Amino acid sequence: KILDNKVALVTGAGSGIGLAIAKLYAKEGAKVIVSDINEEHGKSAVEEIKSAGGEATFVKADTSNPEQVEALVKATVETYGKLDIACNNAGIGGETNPTGDYSLDGWKKVIDINLDGVFYGCKYELTQMEKNGGGVIVNIASIHGTVAAPLSSAYTSTKHAVVGLTKNIGAEYGQKNIRCNAVGPGYIDTPLLNQLDDEHRKALIAKHPMGRLGKSEEVAELVLFLSSDKSSFITGGYYLVDGGYTAV
Ligand code: NAD
Repeated sequence: KILDNKVALVTGAGSGIGLAIAKLYAKEGAKVIVSDINEEHGKSAVEEIKSAGGEATFVKADTSNPEQVEALVKATVETYGKLDIACNNAGIGGETNPTGDYSLDGWKKVIDINLDGVFYGCKYELTQMEKNGGGVIVNIASIHGTVAAPLSSAYTSTKHAVVGLTKNIGAEYGQKNIRCNAVGPGYIDTPLLNQLDDEHRKALIAKHPMGRLGKSEEVAELVLFLSSDKSSFITGGYYLVDGGYTAV
């Protein structure tokens, strides 16, 4: 298995894309820290992984809180002895409004989770990985790390910023045996899209040349590749898994 003897941490692993990543990491032999703000979903993810023969532990953390993220990395090392792989996945869509009408609180909430949360993750993960002598980080951005999401300017701003943060880490840690890449999924059929009505959902599907939404498992395969030694010369990059969305 390609992640045998590895210890991996996934935030927002109780649902959707994060859940698929945690399950695939475990299937490939990693010991996985499943983290989420939602305890019930996080614990059921651990049950699912264990009943499939994998190893996982739930640690509750709100990624927008730096103390909780620092404690999460500490708990990872206390539980499994090190940190090899971290996937900063937790994120929200947030308020939808034209930029001029976007509320200050709504803006701040998206920045707190989607940008500050990823920075806190990277900060404490990098410190630990330096102690380990290496590691790999994958940040979950979005196609909206490169193209607009009308009515979601906070989301677009944070996802562009995550791509920038990822490039910086790639540049800074290249000689420290730490790689960092970002992934840009198109629209993926997860609970995040539950708020969409039928018409909006159809309009989104039409924007993907493949004529469908993506699956969480399809994102997880790219994340697995970027997390494994198979991508040993890849860092500071941004990779799309978008059914062609950004090609047209
Ligand atoms: P989801 O809502 O299914 O899952 C997100 C998980 O993150 C939930 O379990 C939630 O409890 C958790 N979470 C939310 N806020 C948190 C916080 N502050 N601290 C810890 N955990 C928190 O969403 P998803 O579709 O799986 O999205 C996962 C990531 O993928 C997000 O960063 C999202 O922006 C990104 N993404 C999603 C899509 C899509 O179409 N679904 C497309 C591109 C990128």
